[in-house]
Amino acid sequence: RIAYVNGRYLPMTDASVNVEDRGYQFADGVYEVCEIRKGDLIDETRHLARLEYSLGELRIAMPMGRAALGMVLRQVIRRNRVRNGYVYLQVTRGVAPRDHAFPTRPVRPALVVTVKPLDPAIGAAVAEDGIAVITVPENRWDRVDIKTVGLLPNVLAKQAAREAGAREAWFVDADGFVTEGASTNAWIVTGDGVLVTRPADRGILRGITRAVVMETAAAEGLRVEERAFTVEEAKRAREAFVTAATQLVMPVVRIDEATVGNGKPGSIAATLRARFHDHAEAVPVG
Ligand code: PLP
Repeated sequence: RIAYVNGRYLPMTDASVNVEDRGYQFADGVYEVCEIRKGDLIDETRHLARLEYSLGELRIAMPMGRAALGMVLRQVIRRNRVRNGYVYLQVTRGVAPRDHAFPTRPVRPALVVTVKPLDPAIGAAVAEDGIAVITVPENRWDRVDIKTVGLLPNVLAKQAAREAGAREAWFVDADGFVTEGASTNAWIVTGDGVLVTRPADRGILRGITRAVVMETAAAEGLRVEERAFTVEEAKRAREAFVTAATQLVMPVVRIDEATVGNGKPGSIAATLRARFHDHAEAVPVG
């Protein structure tokens, strides 16, 4: 496989970054993950817009313009001949002698792009059964709307999920409300068939998949309420699911020890998953 590292396309085995890259030492950087599906790059426009937002909030410059970044993404996908999978892009503040405050001399932001081929049949098979989630106390900082590579709470939550035989962990705030998953946004469907998901303020990542699912739901005539929901409400919900570029719409059938609905993926989640790509942006990689 080939990676892009600061202007060069390199075999993975030669792809490396400086030990004084601030991403490595301080997690001083941000990332994006986009789906590649049937040779198309999915929702590039929105992902690059969010990248620019995250960078702006951290006062890191864009490493190049959006169009040029899109070219690099495509080049990496092409060189790896990936038709289905994901492209990962990471921008850090750059390389400088270790000091917490920003470098005083101008540094170039560092850009890394990698790909991961993945057969979509794998995710589809998981979605047939649905997944279990566990709940963990929210212990992240108050700017999780910035997609930083500082993911240690998410890493520990995901590991706890794995050790509990679950695939995702939902963070729960001090008042018992679900914020989001370790790498997904969280949703429930009420007994009346209303979709509920937390408002995208600074307490969750403003998921691109979340936004597309909102459009999908509207097209399907489903009502969406943006409000917080508690773990207890989720356990009693008709359906639950999570969304992310890597999961699309993934049904949740167990929350901690509680079974959601009849323990099978719900019909609304299945519909949203099936219709999702009708509403996502898909541009051929070429
Ligand atoms: N929330 C968190 C914490 C995430 O890490 C992610 C994706 O990585 C999401 C939500 C879903 O975002 P998107 O739909 O843009 O992939």
